[in-house]
Amino acid sequence: MPRDQNQSFAGGVKDELIRLPMGKSCCQISEIGALTRTSGHLQVRGGGRLTVTYRMEHTGTARRLYQLLKTRLQVSPVLRYAQSPRLGGRRTWVLSLNENDSRILLEALHMAETDEEGRMTIRRTVPRHPLTRQCCRRAFLRAAFLGAGTMANPEKSYHMEWRAEDERLAEALRRLLEKAGMSGVSYERKGKTVVCLKRAEQISDMLALMGASSSVLKMENIRVNRQTRLRANRAANCDEHNSERMLDAAQRQARACRDISLRVGLFTLPQALREMARVRMENPELSLAELGEMMDPPLSKSAVNHRLRRLVEIADRLE
Ligand SMILES: [Zn+2]
Repeated sequence: MPRDQNQSFAGGVKDELIRLPMGKSCCQISEIGALTRTSGHLQVRGGGRLTVTYRMEHTGTARRLYQLLKTRLQVSPVLRYAQSPRLGGRRTWVLSLNENDSRILLEALHMAETDEEGRMTIRRTVPRHPLTRQCCRRAFLRAAFLGAGTMANPEKSYHMEWRAEDERLAEALRRLLEKAGMSGVSYERKGKTVVCLKRAEQISDMLALMGASSSVLKMENIRVNRQTRLRANRAANCDEHNSERMLDAAQRQARACRDISLRVGLFTLPQALREMARVRMENPELSLAELGEMMDPPLSKSAVNHRLRRLVEIADRLE
């Protein structure tokens, strides 16, 4: 998904999130942990000296992390602004901790231990932080979204995602979504796992969970307008006969998907069909073109038709 296109809505969400209060000290650590996992880099320098550096594009997120580190861990990061030709001239904020501050951070995240002689040993490469409390889980999802998340403008499609640097983070994100009663879908993009939400209600709930309440209102307005527009289009485009035939076919497809799900489980399907089945079951009223728009990446009407036909065939064979 191209970044710029989504910058406005996702950017608005982030601008709202970074203005939230820092929260309890347990949540502050969760936020620091999430930002370390999404945007932090551990560097080993000569003599086994370790330093931590963060890189991020969103100005507000860099400021929030700076503030969190200062407030929660009393360390003083250095924040500078770099325009890297390596990243296509994109501007990034670089936040670096000196050796001593890095040690404080790594210990707070249970990544390192210091023995009596003051020697530090790295215990793990990813932070360990208990996410047993609901408040901390919300804080983690929020900061992970700030560090590695984006969402499509709901005018165009319903899509919210977190890019996971490694499979363990993807797994953690999926678990957190599950705990919040949501079903994250994940797929590979450029060798990285992306965990995403594709349903409007869940995206809206997630915005609320993260604390972006004005974005929730904005999104709900867009949803209502979009539904009204879809309905009006449908009424204008199809005569009654066609639309009835379309609804019949749609219902048959939704039923087929449900059958597969009940009999053998959607997980037995190839990824492409699984996603199609889920979207059709959730949207029995949408046209093929509209379903295509909901897929990521979007599919043509004929590709949608092809997949649905295969699903119906599979269901028929199960009979
Ligand atoms: Zn907490």
